Amino acid sequence: SRQNSKIMTLTVCPYCGTGCQIEVDYSGDHYTVHGYTRSAVNEGKLCIKGYQGLSYASSHDRITSPMLRSGDTWVKVSWDEAIDYVVKRLKEIRDRYGPDAIAFQASAKCTNEENYLLQKIARMIGTNNVDHCARSCHSSTVAGLIRTLGTAAATGSIKSLKSTQTFFVIGSNTTEQHPIIGTTIIKQKKAGKKLIVADPRRTKLASIADVFLQFKPGSDVALLNSMMFVILKRGLIDSEFIKSRTEGFEAFAEEIEKYPPELTEQITGVPPDLVEKAAEIYASNRPSAILYGMGITQHIHGTENVMSVSNLALMTGNLGRYGSGIFPLRGQNNVQGSSDMGALSEFYPGYVPPDSPGVEKFERIWEAKLPRKVGLMLSEMFDAAIDGRVKAIYLMGENPVITEANLSDVERGLKNLELFVVQDIFMTDTARYAHVILPATSALEKEGTFTNTERRIQRVVPVKDPPGDARPDWWILSQIYSKIFDREAYRSPEDIFNEIRLAIPNYSGVRYSDLYPDGKQWPINDQHPEGAEILHVDKFARGLGRFMAIPYKSPSESPDEEYPFILTTGRNYYHWHSGTMTRRSEILERESPNPYVEISVNDAKKLSIRNGQTITIESRHGSIKLPAMVTSKIPDGIVFVPFHFKEARVNLLVGENLDPYSKIPEFKVVAVKVKA
Ligand code: SF4
Repeated sequence: SRQNSKIMTLTVCPYCGTGCQIEVDYSGDHYTVHGYTRSAVNEGKLCIKGYQGLSYASSHDRITSPMLRSGDTWVKVSWDEAIDYVVKRLKEIRDRYGPDAIAFQASAKCTNEENYLLQKIARMIGTNNVDHCARSCHSSTVAGLIRTLGTAAATGSIKSLKSTQTFFVIGSNTTEQHPIIGTTIIKQKKAGKKLIVADPRRTKLASIADVFLQFKPGSDVALLNSMMFVILKRGLIDSEFIKSRTEGFEAFAEEIEKYPPELTEQITGVPPDLVEKAAEIYASNRPSAILYGMGITQHIHGTENVMSVSNLALMTGNLGRYGSGIFPLRGQNNVQGSSDMGALSEFYPGYVPPDSPGVEKFERIWEAKLPRKVGLMLSEMFDAAIDGRVKAIYLMGENPVITEANLSDVERGLKNLELFVVQDIFMTDTARYAHVILPATSALEKEGTFTNTERRIQRVVPVKDPPGDARPDWWILSQIYSKIFDREAYRSPEDIFNEIRLAIPNYSGVRYSDLYPDGKQWPINDQHPEGAEILHVDKFARGLGRFMAIPYKSPSESPDEEYPFILTTGRNYYHWHSGTMTRRSEILERESPNPYVEISVNDAKKLSIRNGQTITIESRHGSIKLPAMVTSKIPDGIVFVPFHFKEARVNLLVGENLDPYSKIPEFKVVAVKVKA
């Protein structure tokens, strides 16, 4: 037993996509945590979630036994009983309604091995209905960057940011969401590097930026096009790079001609002189790196926003060179990895589309006939459950009742299912609808790999024993796999990783044992046996970088007389997503115990709202009440609510509109009214 061990165990922080390496000593229900000083990612540093956020794993309300529903309650059963029941019901539903009546929800909180196994089970059952929370955060990054560069990942390393001359941060509150990357930017800024921040809110980085572009939510394309207009007009493009490395420049240039900053000001709210200054700094002070978060992706034009970001980097030659690049900052610790593993309904492992000949490889490796049409995406699965196309959902480690858009439809869908299996560590709001509950292990109790936001595959190592009868997700899935398909169960995460190496070329060149203690950045193959810090050095993954002509289109909801405010959602420093982990940490909960809505000083004055007063926020889709936080961080006409607090249920306000490419919901722009 590790319970009483005093040995520091080296593993990876279970929170954000930065993927800091942590050394943990767990004894007497207490966690002592240090940043791993030799880590290429965090060099010994950690944020408060890394230091203080681990106690969730020892929380007394962990699920410790498999359970089956019996009327309004659940009864404890053995693992054999639970697994036999799940296998029997999945087979019955597949046989009666066809494989597409089953949907699987994977998890960016789980390891690569677990996500690989879950999508393999889905596809061998005969459906591509497998997806995970990347749909709600970076699916537009995948759709956008695959089209323009050929690879859906950060193009450089965290370390390479030390060589960056200009940071352009757009739609990312980096110091709060990816604090260790945020610290790097602050340090570089203090050392004289340039910083441009584009955000509707005055973030900490905005307050120290050389240029702060406080633009209206949803006007990203207009803002970026106007910056590119200035770069083109002033001759600041990299002509040699455009000529030798890219395609589609003419059509793109024709489009951006339409966006002089004087005209776009009415869309973005940003004065032309600031756009000009930002454009000049970004294009002249190279290498420049663009870092973005969900402020770019969570829109009905999320994919187009990403492609615009890509245009900006391409036209200035800011790709393939050390210190330059595009950094989509991945939210969850393993959202890069779970996407790489093919836990996405439009991609097999390694981003192979279902209708491409590449699927034949998986048919050979898995010895199975596989489905060829794109499956249901996360945002579509609940509607399909409402109208009866989906009869069963197998959910691993997600909490859609809190995190998805249009919450009332999520609940209606779940109530309509014949089988709802939840594999999790806590009795979440979502688990309450389950027919079967399978107790899984936290990241501190299992083994495997996570891939961080800079493509670094790192080993996850257990620091404590799981509570009660909880078992690692990979073990549970392996048992189900073995029984459904009558195949041999996997023996270990390493066993699964060895198959991943066969399935995904970017993972092919590294042995499991070689990933410890230091991880490696994919691609790891014959050409890059030690991995690659910088992508697209000589050529892009798709050959030539592709410009896209992107016209600005307005968001799905604009303020009007009835709903005059824009609501935007996001995170704060202390909490994480639906709060199931951080809100079980005493210290983090003490720092940020209650939900709130940020409103500007002027708006509060106009509506006679006092700081702390409970106010009503109402959209076309729902209404919630929250205490007001009156602040100068936010401009007039915009309100902000963090989505960590299940009691706030902010996603009740978010509508159904989806990005046509990636099907990501528009979490960032919702028209609302505010009442005192
Ligand atoms: Fe964990 Fe992210 Fe904080 Fe690092 S920056 S300690 S990975 S939450």
